[in-house]
Amino acid sequence: MVILGPPGAGKGTQAERLARAYGIPKISTGDILREAVALETELGRRARATMAAGGLVSDTIMNGIVSERLARADTARGFVLDGYPRTVAQAEFLDELVAGRGPLIVVEIRVPLEELVRRLSGRRVCGACGAVVGHLDGAEALAACPRCGGGLVARSDDDPEVVRERLRVYERDTQPLVEFYRRRSTLFVVDGHQSPDRVAEQIARVVTAAAEARRDAAATADLGGRTERR
Ligand code: AMP
Repeated sequence: MVILGPPGAGKGTQAERLARAYGIPKISTGDILREAVALETELGRRARATMAAGGLVSDTIMNGIVSERLARADTARGFVLDGYPRTVAQAEFLDELVAGRGPLIVVEIRVPLEELVRRLSGRRVCGACGAVVGHLDGAEALAACPRCGGGLVARSDDDPEVVRERLRVYERDTQPLVEFYRRRSTLFVVDGHQSPDRVAEQIARVVTAAAEARRDAAATADLGGRTERR
Protein backbone atom coordinates (compact mmCIF):
# COMPACT_ATOMS: atom_id res chain seq x y z
CA MET A 1 0.00 0.00 0.00
CA VAL A 2 1.04 3.57 -0.66
CA ILE A 3 -0.35 6.48 1.33
CA LEU A 4 -0.24 9.73 -0.61
CA GLY A 5 -1.05 13.18 0.65
CA PRO A 6 0.50 16.52 1.53
CA PRO A 7 2.48 17.09 4.73
CA GLY A 8 0.01 17.20 7.62
CA ALA A 9 -2.64 15.05 5.90
CA GLY A 10 -2.24 12.32 8.51
CA LYS A 11 -0.29 9.84 6.37
CA GLY A 12 1.93 8.70 9.24
CA THR A 13 -0.98 8.18 11.63
CA GLN A 14 -3.03 6.24 9.10
CA ALA A 15 -0.05 4.22 7.84
CA GLU A 16 0.69 3.17 11.41
CA ARG A 17 -2.91 2.04 11.96
CA LEU A 18 -2.91 0.06 8.72
CA ALA A 19 0.38 -1.58 9.56
CA ARG A 20 -0.97 -2.64 12.96
CA ALA A 21 -4.28 -3.86 11.52
CA TYR A 22 -2.66 -6.03 8.86
CA GLY A 23 0.48 -7.02 10.76
CA ILE A 24 2.77 -5.61 8.08
CA PRO A 25 5.56 -3.03 8.39
CA LYS A 26 5.05 0.70 8.01
CA ILE A 27 7.91 2.16 6.03
CA SER A 28 8.28 5.90 6.46
CA THR A 29 11.10 7.39 4.42
CA GLY A 30 10.89 10.58 6.52
CA ASP A 31 11.49 8.53 9.70
CA ILE A 32 14.39 6.66 8.08
CA LEU A 33 15.99 9.96 7.06
CA ARG A 34 15.39 11.62 10.46
CA GLU A 35 17.03 8.67 12.17
CA ALA A 36 20.01 8.90 9.82
CA VAL A 37 20.33 12.62 10.59
CA ALA A 38 20.15 11.97 14.35
CA LEU A 39 22.77 9.21 14.11
CA GLU A 40 24.93 11.42 11.85
CA THR A 41 25.43 8.65 9.30
CA GLU A 42 26.70 9.36 5.78
CA LEU A 43 23.08 9.36 4.55
CA GLY A 44 22.09 11.74 7.35
CA ARG A 45 24.88 14.14 6.49
CA ARG A 46 23.81 14.16 2.84
CA ALA A 47 20.09 14.62 3.55
CA ARG A 48 20.19 17.07 6.45
CA ALA A 49 20.33 20.42 4.61
CA THR A 50 17.72 19.43 2.02
CA MET A 51 15.30 18.31 4.73
CA ALA A 52 15.87 21.44 6.79
CA ALA A 53 14.96 23.57 3.76
CA GLY A 54 11.83 21.52 2.99
CA GLY A 55 13.19 20.18 -0.30
CA LEU A 56 13.28 16.64 -1.63
CA VAL A 57 16.22 14.30 -1.17
CA SER A 58 17.38 12.90 -4.53
CA ASP A 59 15.48 10.10 -6.24
CA THR A 60 18.66 8.01 -6.41
CA ILE A 61 19.15 8.13 -2.63
CA MET A 62 15.47 7.50 -1.88
CA ASN A 63 15.15 4.64 -4.36
CA GLY A 64 18.23 3.01 -2.83
CA ILE A 65 16.76 3.26 0.69
CA VAL A 66 13.40 1.78 -0.33
CA SER A 67 14.91 -0.92 -2.48
CA GLU A 68 16.99 -2.11 0.49
CA ARG A 69 14.06 -1.92 2.88
CA LEU A 70 11.64 -3.82 0.60
CA ALA A 71 14.19 -6.61 0.19
CA ARG A 72 13.77 -7.49 3.88
CA ALA A 73 11.75 -10.58 4.74
CA ASP A 74 9.17 -8.77 6.89
CA THR A 75 7.68 -7.16 3.75
CA ALA A 76 6.78 -10.50 2.15
CA ARG A 77 3.09 -10.26 3.16
CA GLY A 78 2.83 -6.59 2.29
CA PHE A 79 3.88 -3.16 3.54
CA VAL A 80 2.61 0.38 3.94
CA LEU A 81 4.70 3.15 2.44
CA ASP A 82 4.44 6.58 4.03
CA GLY A 83 6.20 9.47 2.30
CA TYR A 84 7.38 7.45 -0.71
CA PRO A 85 7.02 7.73 -3.66
CA ARG A 86 7.13 11.50 -3.86
CA THR A 87 8.02 11.97 -7.53
CA VAL A 88 6.92 10.25 -10.71
CA ALA A 89 10.47 8.87 -11.12
CA GLN A 90 10.19 7.25 -7.66
CA ALA A 91 6.76 5.81 -8.53
CA GLU A 92 8.15 4.28 -11.71
CA PHE A 93 11.05 2.80 -9.76
CA LEU A 94 8.61 1.40 -7.17
CA ASP A 95 6.62 -0.29 -9.95
CA GLU A 96 9.75 -2.14 -11.02
CA LEU A 97 10.56 -3.06 -7.42
CA VAL A 98 7.15 -4.60 -6.74
CA ALA A 99 6.67 -6.23 -10.14
CA GLY A 100 5.31 -9.71 -9.50
CA ARG A 101 4.35 -8.91 -5.89
CA GLY A 102 0.75 -7.87 -6.56
CA PRO A 103 -0.80 -4.52 -7.46
CA LEU A 104 -0.25 -1.53 -5.22
CA ILE A 105 -3.24 -0.08 -3.40
CA VAL A 106 -2.77 3.69 -3.43
CA VAL A 107 -4.74 5.86 -1.03
CA GLU A 108 -4.69 9.63 -1.39
CA ILE A 109 -5.67 11.57 1.74
CA ARG A 110 -7.08 15.00 0.81
CA VAL A 111 -7.09 17.91 3.24
CA PRO A 112 -7.67 21.64 2.51
CA LEU A 113 -4.57 23.84 2.57
CA GLU A 114 -5.56 26.06 5.56
CA GLU A 115 -6.19 22.96 7.65
CA LEU A 116 -2.73 21.57 6.77
CA VAL A 117 -1.01 24.74 7.89
CA ARG A 118 -3.02 24.71 11.13
CA ARG A 119 -2.17 21.07 11.82
CA LEU A 120 1.53 21.37 11.07
CA SER A 121 2.03 24.43 13.23
CA GLY A 122 0.41 22.63 16.18
CA ARG A 123 2.12 19.29 15.70
CA ARG A 124 4.62 17.99 18.27
CA VAL A 125 6.81 14.90 18.25
CA CYS A 126 8.03 12.91 21.25
CA GLY A 127 11.83 13.00 21.47
CA ALA A 128 11.83 9.61 23.25
CA CYS A 129 9.32 7.34 21.45
CA GLY A 130 8.71 9.28 18.23
CA ALA A 131 4.93 9.51 18.76
CA VAL A 132 3.27 12.33 16.81
CA VAL A 133 0.94 14.40 18.96
CA GLY A 134 -1.52 16.47 16.94
CA HIS A 135 -3.27 19.75 17.56
CA LEU A 136 -6.52 17.87 18.34
CA ASP A 137 -4.71 16.31 21.30
CA GLY A 138 -3.76 19.79 22.52
CA ALA A 139 -0.13 19.24 21.51
CA GLU A 140 0.83 22.91 21.87
CA ALA A 141 -0.18 22.89 25.52
CA LEU A 142 1.19 19.49 26.54
CA ALA A 143 4.53 19.32 28.31
CA ALA A 144 5.05 15.57 28.00
CA CYS A 145 4.23 12.72 25.62
CA PRO A 146 0.88 11.14 26.57
CA ARG A 147 2.22 7.74 25.53
CA CYS A 148 5.60 7.53 27.31
CA GLY A 149 6.10 10.78 29.22
CA GLY A 150 9.04 11.89 27.02
CA GLY A 151 9.64 15.53 26.12
CA LEU A 152 7.67 16.98 23.20
CA VAL A 153 9.33 19.06 20.51
CA ALA A 154 8.17 20.68 17.27
CA ARG A 155 9.70 19.06 14.18
CA SER A 156 12.28 21.53 12.85
CA ASP A 157 10.72 21.36 9.38
CA ASP A 158 7.30 22.27 10.83
CA ASP A 159 8.60 25.86 11.07
CA PRO A 160 6.09 28.07 9.12
CA GLU A 161 8.58 29.10 6.40
CA VAL A 162 9.66 25.49 5.81
CA VAL A 163 6.04 24.30 5.91
CA ARG A 164 5.19 26.66 3.06
CA GLU A 165 8.11 25.30 1.03
CA ARG A 166 7.13 21.67 1.74
CA LEU A 167 3.58 22.36 0.60
CA ARG A 168 4.90 24.07 -2.57
CA VAL A 169 7.17 21.09 -3.26
CA TYR A 170 4.24 18.72 -2.74
CA GLU A 171 2.13 20.64 -5.21
CA ARG A 172 4.89 20.71 -7.81
CA ASP A 173 6.55 17.27 -7.48
CA THR A 174 4.13 14.94 -5.73
CA GLN A 175 0.70 16.06 -6.94
CA PRO A 176 1.52 14.73 -10.46
CA LEU A 177 1.66 11.26 -8.86
CA VAL A 178 -2.07 11.39 -8.31
CA GLU A 179 -2.53 11.59 -12.08
CA PHE A 180 0.06 8.86 -12.55
CA TYR A 181 -1.90 6.45 -10.35
CA ARG A 182 -5.37 7.58 -11.44
CA ARG A 183 -4.68 6.34 -14.95
CA ARG A 184 -4.28 2.83 -13.54
CA SER A 185 -7.45 2.80 -11.42
CA THR A 186 -5.48 1.75 -8.34
CA LEU A 187 -6.02 5.11 -6.68
CA PHE A 188 -8.57 5.65 -3.91
CA VAL A 189 -9.29 9.10 -2.52
CA VAL A 190 -10.37 9.63 1.08
CA ASP A 191 -11.44 12.82 2.84
CA GLY A 192 -8.77 13.57 5.45
CA HIS A 193 -10.58 16.55 6.94
CA GLN A 194 -12.27 14.53 9.69
CA SER A 195 -11.23 12.69 12.82
CA PRO A 196 -8.44 10.08 12.54
CA ASP A 197 -10.98 7.35 13.43
CA ARG A 198 -13.30 8.36 10.58
CA VAL A 199 -10.42 8.55 8.11
CA ALA A 200 -9.25 5.09 9.23
CA GLU A 201 -12.78 3.71 8.68
CA GLN A 202 -12.85 5.10 5.15
CA ILE A 203 -9.43 3.67 4.37
CA ALA A 204 -10.43 0.25 5.76
CA ARG A 205 -13.45 0.22 3.42
CA VAL A 206 -11.30 1.11 0.44
CA VAL A 207 -8.69 -1.54 1.22
CA THR A 208 -11.37 -4.22 1.68
CA ALA A 209 -13.00 -3.24 -1.63
CA ALA A 210 -9.64 -3.36 -3.40
CA ALA A 211 -8.88 -6.81 -1.97
CA GLU A 212 -12.33 -8.08 -3.04
CA ALA A 213 -11.88 -6.69 -6.54
CA ARG A 214 -8.59 -8.53 -6.72
CA ARG A 215 -10.15 -11.80 -5.58
CA ASP A 216 -12.94 -11.41 -8.16
CA ALA A 217 -10.41 -10.76 -10.90
CA ALA A 218 -8.46 -13.87 -9.86
CA ALA A 219 -11.68 -15.95 -9.85
CA THR A 220 -12.59 -14.71 -13.32
CA ALA A 221 -9.15 -15.64 -14.55
CA ASP A 222 -9.64 -19.11 -12.98
CA LEU A 223 -12.92 -19.58 -14.87
CA GLY A 224 -11.20 -18.65 -18.09
CA GLY A 225 -8.53 -21.21 -17.34
CA ARG A 226 -5.91 -18.53 -17.21
CA THR A 227 -4.96 -18.47 -13.56
CA GLU A 228 -2.50 -15.74 -12.97
CA ARG A 229 -1.96 -15.08 -9.28
CA ARG A 230 0.61 -12.60 -8.19
P1 AMP B 1 8.11 13.39 5.83
O1 AMP B 1 8.29 12.98 7.26
O2 AMP B 1 7.55 12.31 4.96
O3 AMP B 1 7.36 14.69 5.69
O4 AMP B 1 9.58 13.65 5.26
C1 AMP B 1 10.43 14.66 5.81
C2 AMP B 1 11.44 15.11 4.77
O5 AMP B 1 12.25 14.01 4.36
C3 AMP B 1 10.84 15.65 3.49
O6 AMP B 1 10.47 17.01 3.59
C4 AMP B 1 11.99 15.42 2.51
O7 AMP B 1 13.02 16.38 2.69
C5 AMP B 1 12.54 14.09 2.97
N1 AMP B 1 11.90 12.94 2.29
C6 AMP B 1 11.11 11.97 2.86
N2 AMP B 1 10.69 11.08 1.95
C7 AMP B 1 11.18 11.50 0.75
C8 AMP B 1 11.08 11.01 -0.58
N3 AMP B 1 10.35 9.93 -0.88
N4 AMP B 1 11.72 11.71 -1.56
C9 AMP B 1 12.45 12.80 -1.28
N5 AMP B 1 12.59 13.32 -0.05
C10 AMP B 1 11.97 12.68 0.97
